[in-house]
Amino acid sequence: MEGSEQARAHRRLRLQEGTRRLLHGFSRAASSALNLPAGLAVWCHEATDVFGAGRASAWLHDRRSQELVLVATSGTTDVAEGTRLRTDSPQLPAAAMHHDGARVGRGASGQGSLGVLTVPLRGHRRALGVLVLDEVPTSLIEDDDLVAEADELGRQLSAAIENLLLLEDVLKSRRELAHTFDSLEDLVAVCGPGLQVVHVNRTLADRLTLPADRLFGRPLADLLDREAAAWVRSEDLASALRAATPAARELDDATLGGRFTMTLTPLPGPDGRPAGAVFVARDVTNQARLEAERAALQERLTQSEKLAALGQFIAGVAHELNNPLQAVLGHVELLRRQGRIPPGIRRELSLVFREADRAARIVDNLLVFAGGRTATLRPIALNAVVTQTLALRAAACRAAGIDIVRRLDESQPRVAGNRLLLQQALFNVLINAEQELAAWGGGRIEVSTRVPAGGDVVRVQVRDTGPGIAAAALPRLFEPFFTTKDVGRGTGLGLAITYGIVKDHRGTLTAGNHPDGGAVFTIDLPVSRERPRERKKTTTRQRD
Ligand code: ADP
Repeated sequence: MEGSEQARAHRRLRLQEGTRRLLHGFSRAASSALNLPAGLAVWCHEATDVFGAGRASAWLHDRRSQELVLVATSGTTDVAEGTRLRTDSPQLPAAAMHHDGARVGRGASGQGSLGVLTVPLRGHRRALGVLVLDEVPTSLIEDDDLVAEADELGRQLSAAIENLLLLEDVLKSRRELAHTFDSLEDLVAVCGPGLQVVHVNRTLADRLTLPADRLFGRPLADLLDREAAAWVRSEDLASALRAATPAARELDDATLGGRFTMTLTPLPGPDGRPAGAVFVARDVTNQARLEAERAALQERLTQSEKLAALGQFIAGVAHELNNPLQAVLGHVELLRRQGRIPPGIRRELSLVFREADRAARIVDNLLVFAGGRTATLRPIALNAVVTQTLALRAAACRAAGIDIVRRLDESQPRVAGNRLLLQQALFNVLINAEQELAAWGGGRIEVSTRVPAGGDVVRVQVRDTGPGIAAAALPRLFEPFFTTKDVGRGTGLGLAITYGIVKDHRGTLTAGNHPDGGAVFTIDLPVSRERPRERKKTTTRQRD
């Protein structure tokens, strides 16, 4: 009797020693890599020895799918790791998960001398899984001490597993939080009470091209450009933060590279008092650019509305003037054909005719400007227009000491245009260059044509070596009646007319100054998609 008591005490001791070893092995394997399956694999391996079982398996409860998953097993079995079982199954091991302690049962193998020991794993108000020890000799299973020890082991293992799961949850949330923080497009810095950097997201570190750990502890102001740094250091901001009020500014910051909406939001400490602030800089560079472009577009629209209204008014006046002028011209012409006119009167008549003709041409220009004279567009060779226009001014330029240099690309496609209107557009640009150079004491006008990359437009460029366009005049150049010339010399209509003609051709007109001095006017005209027509007699009226 005494001997068997001793043997039992000895066995109990060995069991206790064994479970301690099991727990220790589990903890070491599981916690070194925070890997629960690895810990349970070690446990399974050693449990067979401690409990004299043929096989040990660990099933964990997947709460979301309401299933038990076999995460580790010792030796090879016909049930593979990863096997899933519904938790409401009445069979082992699912049924065992709901037991309130370790239990023994008959072995599935049907071998009478072997049994199965199941140990439920229970956490705080939740089932964690079940351990199954198969093929345990009946002699052992009938031992109450073994069941009690298995129960104790189950409790301790449950606590360890639950802690591990909690830790995993915490670490996962932390990882997710860090990931979210880093993937924010905004530049974020968490700052301590003196606005020194405690934490930055990757976006901010990348902008500053510095590793995040080089930024810790530095004053936030040190990471910003002058204006932003002054704001961050300002007393206004400090008092806003003390009063737990967020503050915001929109600033350009060359250090961060762009325009930013910067906000500093106070961060309350555990006692509710301000413990620091969160700095967020949102890049609004693109937004600001778009807004500027929209404003410029609006400005251009207003400008073209003004032009349209003015155009209507001018067209009305020009039409009214045209009729009496044509009558004057007609009658003077009739008078001039009379044979017997004293020479003095003939001279006067010629003068009247010339001036009336000039007035008629001005009225005609006004009509073009007003948009009353658009003609249909045909495929035309722009070089021919350039050559004809230059021929008109050749003599005058020579007389004024102005050289004309031509660089015409001969292989260019035709543009969709009206020859006479384009001639006028170019003429106005040439006349300006000529006037500027004549006042400058001579110089050179370079006229070039070419097809820029892309091939969908033909470009005419007129460059002169005169004084260039005054900076103040540049934005107003195409405005009707804008002139810097003396009364009588300039009408301020030339470039407005050119602009209107080019626009009617769906082209663009730009003006600027050449880096080496002088003005440069560039006209881009779309290439014609139409094939040039056969030349035939046409009755279409065209302006002269
Ligand atoms: P106008 O020649 O009657 O003044 P424009 O509309 O043709 O009217 O030109 C407007 C203004 O643009 C001119 O008064 C002049 O100030 C400026 N400008 C035009 N062409 C040139 C040029 N080649 N060089 C310098 N300034 C120019």
